[in-house]
Order: sequence, then structure tokens, then C-alpha cells
Amino acid sequence: MNISVIGVGYVGLVTGACLSEFGINALCMDIDEEKINKLKKGIIPIYEPDLAAIVHKNSGDKLHFTTSMEEAVAFADVIFIAVDTPTREDGTSDLTHVFEVARNIALYMNEYKIIVNKSTVPVFTGQKVREEIKAILAKEGKNFEFDVVSNPEFLQEGSAVKNFICPDRIVIGSSNDKALEAMKKVYYIQLLQGVPLVATNIETAEMIKYASNAFLATKVSFINEMANMCERCNADVLTVARAMGLDDRIGPRFLQPGPGYGGSCFPKDTKALVGIGKKIRYIPKIVKSVIEVNRLQRLLAYSKIKKAMKKLDNKTVTVLGLSFKPETDDLRESPAIDIIEKILESNARVKVYDPKSMSNMKTNYPLLPIAYCEDAYSACAGSDCIVLVTDWKEFKSLDFEKLKEIVQTPVFVDLRNVYEPEEIRSFGFRYEGMGRK
Ligand code: NAD
Repeated sequence: MNISVIGVGYVGLVTGACLSEFGINALCMDIDEEKINKLKKGIIPIYEPDLAAIVHKNSGDKLHFTTSMEEAVAFADVIFIAVDTPTREDGTSDLTHVFEVARNIALYMNEYKIIVNKSTVPVFTGQKVREEIKAILAKEGKNFEFDVVSNPEFLQEGSAVKNFICPDRIVIGSSNDKALEAMKKVYYIQLLQGVPLVATNIETAEMIKYASNAFLATKVSFINEMANMCERCNADVLTVARAMGLDDRIGPRFLQPGPGYGGSCFPKDTKALVGIGKKIRYIPKIVKSVIEVNRLQRLLAYSKIKKAMKKLDNKTVTVLGLSFKPETDDLRESPAIDIIEKILESNARVKVYDPKSMSNMKTNYPLLPIAYCEDAYSACAGSDCIVLVTDWKEFKSLDFEKLKEIVQTPVFVDLRNVYEPEEIRSFGFRYEGMGRK
């Protein structure tokens, strides 16, 4: 079987690379020439554990790269759309790239194709993609059959390869058995390993993705609210979360308080779900509150820094971690960005260190007047407040004896509750955590 993947970002590259690892011929296409040229040279444009090894192993054999849409369409039986679907000003999804790709597929179609929406798209997008392709084929005087399938992706950045190879479930929304059977062939290896398959209609598959992300975001906002309540009543949120998580109706994951969720999915998908609600005249009230709690949580993170320092004007703040979570270089909607901007507004200096996302930060925020440092300790030298924003492994074993010697003022704001408050206080630091005294 031959597949093409259109859009070689976090999802597209992982999809193409992992399917090639499973023996499928994969051609990955992107309009970004620089990205494709890098990939052809073996340079991986994103950081994702284990991805480089798989790309290197399969490149030139089962895995190829191109910028030609015509080639990508001609090559494949199954064409994955994995382009970005950003949020518009009004919170709804911007589907410009999805429809651009759909139109190009129609223009170059030469025989029966299965077009698979892997991008996260609102309900009814599959239907609209089908109509768009049909209209162009009619205009071009072509009479090819085709099917549109919804196959939402659930991978998590930081463990994307692992998640793709062994997902919790595979969701396939299709309108006929022919397309479903072809998709079962694409995922033959995973299904053989016993990964559950949810085969359904297109609209249900589209909805599953939003419902799943909105529910996880709800867990995060919920525990953040509990943390804020714990702080006011001498309760320890970590113990609350642990005890909650031991109830297997609840489960322990996504119950870690922090500066609010970020990344390319939760913020976008929760807003998009409210946008879908407006269209179908049912506003999901819980999800609306989840978004608001998350917005306030970022402000709260900044208030903690302000409270711990009393005065920010002319002081130096160290931010440890920029990416929205560890093991990724992705800065999209990262709480660190909002926090840094607020600190700068208060006329303080900012020194930062992140193991993987500093070059993305320099490229995406070239005008932010922040000092990039070589490691955590050089970032903390002369600091009046250290803020741990992203819980990278290397920030979990900081040497506080050493830090005490190099900081200007011993203040530690632990937005991820990595450390025990009493332990850090015993080094002479003022310590602020989330939801615990
Ligand atoms: P991304 O921004 O990393 O990559 C998108 C790629 O699409 C870019 O390389 C861009 O150049 C390319 N592109 C845009 N328009 C194109 C066109 N017309 N033709 C060819 N290529 C084009 O995006 P991502 O994070 O991989 O996300 C892709 C989709 O998957 C989104 O809908 C997202 O919501 C969803 N998703 C993302 C994740 C995640 O963790 N990143 C997880 C699950 C689902």
C-alpha cells in the first residue's frame, strides 16, 4: 500500500515515518520547501523523542519527501491531510489549509483515492471536503470515485512516536465498508497488536476528537480550581489529586495543577468546540468555563511571582522552561510566553533557559528582550526569583546549595510542584507552589 501525508508537522511527520516503519510506502508532502529540503538531508525540523531514528532508518527506502502535490496525489491510494487548523480571532477553526489541500487533491486526482482527515476539524468538515472535491471534479470534467474518511489523531507531543505506534484506540469515521477496510490495512500492525478500533460515521469521529481534548482540558482546569481552593483552606492539592486519582473512575492523569494548559491542541480545540456549539445552537457551558479558568490560571501564575517578589521593577526573573510541556520544542500557547510578557511589562529583566525550545523562541519571538542562557545555573545567576514553568527532567534535580550561592535573592516559584516546600525553604529560599503551603 502507498500512502501520502500532506502537511509534515508534528502529526504528519510522525504519521509518515511510523507507517513507513510498519512497511508502508509513505510520501510526505509539504509546501514548506525549507522543511522538505532539511528532511531530504536527514535534518529533523522538530524535536520529538525517537523520531529522528525512524526517519533516518526509512528515508530513501519506504519514506520519501516532496513539495509536489501532483506527485503526492499520483503516488498514493490513501492521502492523509495533516495540515494545521489554527484558531481564528472568533475562536472557530481556520480550515483554509484543509480546503486548499482538498482542492489540490481534486485537481490532481487520477484514479480512486481515499482522502483521510487527520487534522483536527469541526463536525461536518468531512462532508464539506467531500462536496468541495466533488464540485472540482465536476468542473474539471473528471469522473473519479473517491471516499473521505475521518481519522483523528490523539498523539501527545513528547511521546508522539510511542503514541502512534501503540495508541489507546484508532478511530475511523467513514461512510462505507470499502474505505473502512482500506484503513484497516493502513493500521494492520497496530490492530494486530490488539489496539481497539472504533469504527463509526464521519461526524462521530470528528466529535470524538473534540470531546476527548475538551474532557482532558476540563480535568486540568478542574484540578487548578481545586489547587486555588486548597491554598485558601490549608489543604494540600497534591494529596487531594493523588487520592482522587486512586479512584479508578477518575484516574490520576491530567490532575497536576500548574500554570494552565497550553500547546497546539487543548486551547484551540476547546475554543473550536464552543464555536461548533454556536453553529449548532448548543453552547457547551462546561467547556466555556474551562477556557475561562485556564485564562485566569495564567494570570494567577504571574500574581504568584509578583507576590513572592513584592516588587518586580528593575529586578531579574529567571524562567526555567519555555515549551508548553517537557520533551517537546513546541511553544504554541505555552504559559511561559504569557508569563514572560507580564514580567517584562512590570519592568523586570528576564533570563531564560530551556533544553530544546530556545531556537524556536528566538525565531518566533525575535523582539522579546530576554536573555538566553546556556544552562539552568547560568540562567539563575544574579536572579531575584526563579520560576520553574516547564517540568523538564533536568529541572527536577537542581542543586539548591549551588543556587543559593549564585542568586541575588532566594525566591523559588514552582509552578509545577516539582519540589517539597519545606525542603526548598530549608535552603533559605522563599518557596511558592501551586495549591499547597
Ligand atoms: P504543524 O503546524 O506542526 O504542521 C502543519 C504542516 O502543514 C506545516 O508543515 C505546514 O507547512 C503544512 N501545510 C500547511 N498548508 C499546507 C498545504 N496547503 N499543503 C501542504 N502542506 C501544508 O501542525 P501539527 O501540530 O502537526 O497539527 C496538524 C493537525 O493535527 C492540526 O489540526 C492539529 O490540531 C492536529 N493534531 C495535532 C496534535 C499535536 O500534538 N501537534 C495532536 C493531535 C492532532
